[in-house]
Amino acid sequence: MNSGISIVWFKQDLRLQDNAALQAASESNGQLLLLRFIEPSLINDPHYDERHWRFIQQSVQDLNVRLAPQHLKVLLIHDEVIPFFSKLHKRLGIGAIYSHEETGLRITCKRDQAVTRFCEEHGIKWKEFQTNGITRGLQDRKQWAKLWHEHMLAPQIKTSLESVTPVDPTEISDLIPPEETVRDNDSFQRGGESEAHGLLQSFLQQRHHRYMTHISKPEASRASCSRLSAHLAWGNLSIRQVYQATLVAREKGGSAFQLRNFESRLHWHCHFIQKFEMEDRIELENFNRGFDEFPVKFNPAYFEAWSEGKTGFPLVDACMRCLKSTGYVNFRMRSMLISFWCHHLLQPWKPAALHLAKLFLDFEPGIHYGQIQMQSARTGINTIRIYNPVKQSQEHDPKGAFSKRWIPELEGFPENFIHEPWRLTDMERTLYGLEDLKYPAPIIDIEASGKRAREVLWSWMERPEVKKEATRILKKHTLPGRKRME
Ligand SMILES: Cc1cc2nc3c(=O)[nH]c(=O)nc-3n(C[C@H](O)[C@H](O)[C@H](O)COP(=O)(O)OP(=O)(O)OC[C@H]3O[C@@H](n4cnc5c(N)ncnc54)[C@H](O)[C@@H]3O)c2cc1C
Repeated sequence: MNSGISIVWFKQDLRLQDNAALQAASESNGQLLLLRFIEPSLINDPHYDERHWRFIQQSVQDLNVRLAPQHLKVLLIHDEVIPFFSKLHKRLGIGAIYSHEETGLRITCKRDQAVTRFCEEHGIKWKEFQTNGITRGLQDRKQWAKLWHEHMLAPQIKTSLESVTPVDPTEISDLIPPEETVRDNDSFQRGGESEAHGLLQSFLQQRHHRYMTHISKPEASRASCSRLSAHLAWGNLSIRQVYQATLVAREKGGSAFQLRNFESRLHWHCHFIQKFEMEDRIELENFNRGFDEFPVKFNPAYFEAWSEGKTGFPLVDACMRCLKSTGYVNFRMRSMLISFWCHHLLQPWKPAALHLAKLFLDFEPGIHYGQIQMQSARTGINTIRIYNPVKQSQEHDPKGAFSKRWIPELEGFPENFIHEPWRLTDMERTLYGLEDLKYPAPIIDIEASGKRAREVLWSWMERPEVKKEATRILKKHTLPGRKRME
């Protein structure tokens, strides 16, 4: 039996149901304190943005509405973890901390190592629970898929908080730094368990019917994809809740084709995070070390054009501007943004990874860095995809509606030129009344840059050091016998 209070340290698990840490803490003997930190060190980290703190704040607000009948409240703590735990331990004595395992960036990994040492020094029990079927300490993938399925099909954890005794907040009110509220912004998805369940139901009941038809379209995907990514990244829902609800929807007559494809993406979600759990150096280094000498040189002018949505390629620019304003674009458009930066502009992946992490409301380190490495062709084992933004625009935004929506300069631009505005002659500009067009000329020749990228990348793939690393990666991260990694 522990003496001292019990703490639930909410991390990327901002929900009440299917929350093993919360349920275990509710069965402990101590008075209960519920916390979610917003750490200054993460506020200052280049991966994060105000949009992420807003989502967390909204998620905590939603939890507190649900917890009010039990006279419980999650406190949002604007402080570093160890100094706060230290003050709390001196005041009330901490018996145990309950949380979920986090597969995070180097900065949160180091923080967790320091928390482990702090707990050991002070005789505090820190009980961590598995997250979404991600297994710690695996050396290969022989057992992983089986373990994952078992986890996904196991009963969900029901939380009951009726018998818990909360810590009296007045006992610690002087320890809590003033809250720094982030103002709501309706252009972004709102955080919270209630919001997440509503979205899941609308997807499973109606929106999934055109899932695969619209998945690559920048505009239509906003309604036909689940849009659950931010809720999954911050833990408003567990993957198990979504997976099991999807199986039920399929049994009740939902479209089997669409829902099976959706289920595989839930699996990919965890597959990518498992990869990061086993090799988190890919936040900082090339996945395939054979690419360490690959010739790329950062060009600040290119970065400004790409990151500001001013490359002169409407679909690239529209995606970047849309991301800035809403925090979301679909998978294909994310891949195209990286392909344009890394292949057409021949630029290093790191600045792009940081810039997009800040913009993605659903920033999830394991998926993000895995995808960045794949799309920038730094794994040496995946098909290299070099997307031509003109062709993507013709195929997925044929009338240019998405581009026009996000690039006001192109309002009224003739439809047949929207994919390649530079093709409009001076005479045609006059004809359409577009003499004062403020939209930039393209920063590169897209045919030439695509050709160069193909030549450079494919010849690099033949290098023995790339092939050697590819064998190592396949052995560690795929099932025996597989030739490719998802
Ligand atoms: C360069 C790049 C960076 C990315 N960074 C992130 C990130 O930081 N966070 C993130 O959640 N996704 C990331 N993705 C994957 C994918 O683009 C998003 O998960 C998806 O667009 C979210 O939309 P949705 O919730 O409507 O997805 P749906 O299509 O409805 O899929 C359901 C869920 O499955 C998971 N999922 C879907 N596609 C993928 C995929 N290709 N790989 C892994 N999991 C997937 C997500 O959790 C998603 O919410 C990235 C993709 C690329 C190309």
